[in-house]
Amino acid sequence: MKSLNSDNCVLCSSQKYPIVWANDLLRIVLINDQNYRGYCRVDLINHVKEMADLDEETRNEFMGVIFQTEKIIKEYLQPDKINLASLGNITPHLHWHIIPRYFSDNHFPDSIWGEKKRIDINKFSKVQELEFIKYVKNKLNQ
Ligand SMILES: [Zn+2]
Repeated sequence: MKSLNSDNCVLCSSQKYPIVWANDLLRIVLINDQNYRGYCRVDLINHVKEMADLDEETRNEFMGVIFQTEKIIKEYLQPDKINLASLGNITPHLHWHIIPRYFSDNHFPDSIWGEKKRIDINKFSKVQELEFIKYVKNKLNQ
């Protein structure tokens, strides 16, 4: 698969979020809105628009990492629900959101892109963030 970087793409430029784990194909970043404690995004490194554009092996590895990460988050944080989402309307570069949801989070039971219903007081601290990153990294490297 060729690397097709796009100049105007935020996912092709340098990353502003902490990288939880990465290999040649994928990277997992911790999103800065930790009102959803453990909110991660799994990015394809290459600039590809649709899942249908990937070969089967790449697609399977991509989904495998997403499901592994989902499972790690479920075990570690025990959220009330996990949302998996792939939209890419604004950023047409393949990425999946893995969003742990809590009954007390800002938007529950709506999607996190809806209107806020409350302000979560259980936000991840910096120390919790670092512990979480370490835990996920270790699990994925096993
Ligand atoms: Zn891109």
